[in-house]
Amino acid sequence: MKTDVAIVGGGPGGAASAMFLIQEGIKPVIIEKETFPRYHIGESMTGECGGVVRQLGLGDEMLKRRHPIKHGVKVYGQHSWFVPVMARDASYNLMDQTTWQVRRSDFDRMMLEEAVARGATLIHGQATRPLLDDEGAVRGVQVKMADGGLVDIESEVLLDCSGQKTFLAQAGVTGPKYLGHYDKQIAIFSQIANGIRDDGETRDTQPDNTLIFYQKKYHWAWWIPLDDEVVSVGVVSPAAYFLEQKESKAEFLKRELYELHSELKRRIPELELIEETRSIPNYSFQVKRFCGKGFICIGDAHRFIDPIFSFGLYVTMKEAQYAAPRVRAYLEGANRDADNPFAEHQVLCEKGIDVLEDTLDGFWEHPFTFAYLVHARHRELMVDVFAGRIYENQPSEAVEGFRRLLKRERTYDSEDIYSLPIGSRYHPERAPLWEERPPI
Ligand SMILES: Cc1cc2nc3c(=O)[nH]c(=O)nc-3n(C[C@H](O)[C@H](O)[C@H](O)COP(=O)(O)OP(=O)(O)OC[C@H]3O[C@@H](n4cnc5c(N)ncnc54)[C@H](O)[C@@H]3O)c2cc1C
Repeated sequence: MKTDVAIVGGGPGGAASAMFLIQEGIKPVIIEKETFPRYHIGESMTGECGGVVRQLGLGDEMLKRRHPIKHGVKVYGQHSWFVPVMARDASYNLMDQTTWQVRRSDFDRMMLEEAVARGATLIHGQATRPLLDDEGAVRGVQVKMADGGLVDIESEVLLDCSGQKTFLAQAGVTGPKYLGHYDKQIAIFSQIANGIRDDGETRDTQPDNTLIFYQKKYHWAWWIPLDDEVVSVGVVSPAAYFLEQKESKAEFLKRELYELHSELKRRIPELELIEETRSIPNYSFQVKRFCGKGFICIGDAHRFIDPIFSFGLYVTMKEAQYAAPRVRAYLEGANRDADNPFAEHQVLCEKGIDVLEDTLDGFWEHPFTFAYLVHARHRELMVDVFAGRIYENQPSEAVEGFRRLLKRERTYDSEDIYSLPIGSRYHPERAPLWEERPPI
């Protein structure tokens, strides 16, 4: 089988890639191993993520499906603060906006079905290995079909949208995969019903906002409403702390929901977990050289930092949007002889995620300065970052401020257009390779 573009993974990154490619006149093939609907974590959208959904023409459908409307995120630490969802109008003035919380089984299915309805071909199977030519360029992918048979799909471009499976990195096609700055963390999560929501008139007291709670560094909880009754709850902590407790995941989660912050406890008068308790350890990583001849890795397939301010869905869908016109240009002959035909795309994505990384690190390392910047000094610039405006007009004065506080320089030159994996508190000297991670 031959196609211009093959996409590994039919999650939001793969489905958005397909829809943006179709807007460019290219009908791709999507390979997805799971049968949808399937469970997935990652339920809160940033403002600009909602913007991408609207640009795909799905805003009305989202309203019809009654996904909870998010007006912002409220953070409870020693004090509480709120960041509203705001967009920029044509004159670049801030204006109120809303976005959504999504049950991923529903949202991901909608996205994939829409991509197929618009002209993508869906193949139900597991991508097993990339096909390479003599020079190492990616020329397609081998797929194990549901009946066990193997099929080669030849492509001009392969988009890796496989999420944390990092298909091309695992196959050794990309540069090395490094542990990320938030390695050795674990997220443990489930759902509750009938928690106490805010019910106010102002944007910061809307019932479906995201709430974040923390007391100690790197130890926090989320509250993301999924419908009028159900709220997704999760606790993120160092994995060593979880292991020390010697509790089951459900026991750990229940105890933490009551001990982590008094405000969180207040909101859950009757604590019963109504969904399986799941966990994801070691979600933080970074892949170097994630674009190259015949391939682009999108979203989680090349980098994920930390879920605290809900950027994952946005990054994957925005990268899909940025990639589509570049793929079209490549198919039309642009950069065919370049070492890395998608080098510009790669550096754009890296710079954007670096803005996020430095913001998150600023939050944990300098919480009081962070709160001051959000409230007073750079309120509008921080509203931009929280919404996801991380690719243009960045690094802003606020982000430059974090970099000074963190004593971190970011340089991008033509020789090494990837941002440097910066290590972590466990490995301050360098970021270790993914294969070197200890078992959890
Ligand atoms: C604890 C935690 C909480 C999070 N919370 C949020 C949040 O609140 N908001 C937010 O925006 N993000 C959040 N995220 C991040 C979010 O889940 C991801 O960024 C997002 O799902 C990435 O979408 P994707 O399409 O790139 O990958 P995925 O959604 O993972 O989709 C990848 C798809 O590829 C398929 N696949 C993989 N390998 C193969 C293969 N070999 N062959 C065929 N198919 C394959 C998989 O079955 C899957 O359907 C969170 C992440 C974690 C770890």
